[in-house]
Amino acid sequence: MKDDCSREINYLRISVTDRCNLRCTYCMPREGIKPISHHEILRNEEIECLVRAAALVGINKIRLTGGEPLVRKGLPELIKLIAAVPEIDDIALTTNGVLLPDMAARLKEAGLKRVNISLDTLKPRRYEEVTRMGKIGDAWRGIEAALEQDFHPVKINVVAIRGFNDDEILDLVGLSFKYPLHVRFIELMPIGISDAWASYRHIPVFEIKDIIERGMGKLQEVKRMDGNGPAKYYHLPGIQGSIGFISPVSDHFCSYCNRLRLTAEGRLRPCLYSNKEIDVKKPLRSNATDMELAKLFAQAIKLKPTRHNIGEGWQEQDRIMSQIGG
Ligand code: SAM
Ligand code: SF4
Repeated sequence: MKDDCSREINYLRISVTDRCNLRCTYCMPREGIKPISHHEILRNEEIECLVRAAALVGINKIRLTGGEPLVRKGLPELIKLIAAVPEIDDIALTTNGVLLPDMAARLKEAGLKRVNISLDTLKPRRYEEVTRMGKIGDAWRGIEAALEQDFHPVKINVVAIRGFNDDEILDLVGLSFKYPLHVRFIELMPIGISDAWASYRHIPVFEIKDIIERGMGKLQEVKRMDGNGPAKYYHLPGIQGSIGFISPVSDHFCSYCNRLRLTAEGRLRPCLYSNKEIDVKKPLRSNATDMELAKLFAQAIKLKPTRHNIGEGWQEQDRIMSQIGG
């Protein structure tokens, strides 16, 4: 279905949990967050029901995220349920990868097609520092497991942080030469962290591109890899994967935003950066029909703002990234 700006909205990002096994400095406080009670989190069958309703207004792509989606029990079963909804032709996952070695085969069998894995550094000490508790070997084994299972594509999400990983940009690009990996640099956003912290550490995409071009030659833009995602992709001679850039702050991509978000506790969120939400859990738990739920999805699509104003500084947020589903 098209929104008021003629954008075709066909993509739903579902946060399946607000819990996480890491505490990335730019995403969560050291002590974590007060988790939503299990009763408040949508059950597998409830998510399936909402996906069916979403399909009625044209959603055909699903991404599971969180928090860390792999800490949710029964994730392969959830993927199976979603994969059985006839209109859904693409199911993807965003994960820190730590639990992937044990789960990759089951997820693939369940119907998962694509995986994005977060990795901000190649240095073990820095990985421990940025995640506050992670071991880089675990994330790396997750990436290997994703490649072994032949998920296609496997993308690596790198949040660019000044003074932390700006000296590793060329090494991180090197991953896409050595492996069929699509390495994407994401601008740091002031969500859940202070504007001051984020603006000091923020590196605009044009600066990252400049570092790559000075070190490795002219980037060649390629066609979008998968629909209307926010990343722009580039090639370099000899590359196996690609290099992507996501610039929510320096060059927003709102004019082709095709997504809605569903929080773990059942709120539909038309825009990552706006506090506007629609409660779908209450009607769902009061036995609303698929059609009635589909109307709420249509309402959320109508509520999508023309654009966000993140470049003008962050406004007070009710939720942090792991609660919205980044
Ligand atoms: N736990 C999973 C992971 O880390 O991939 C999925 C959830 S996480 C919130 C999704 C993505 O959001 C990750 O790639 C993470 O690096 C990114 N992210 C979190 N906070 C961010 C911020 N303040 N600015 C930019 N990206 C952020
Ligand atoms: Fe957890 Fe992902 Fe947030 Fe890191 S970015 S704390 S792995 S939810």
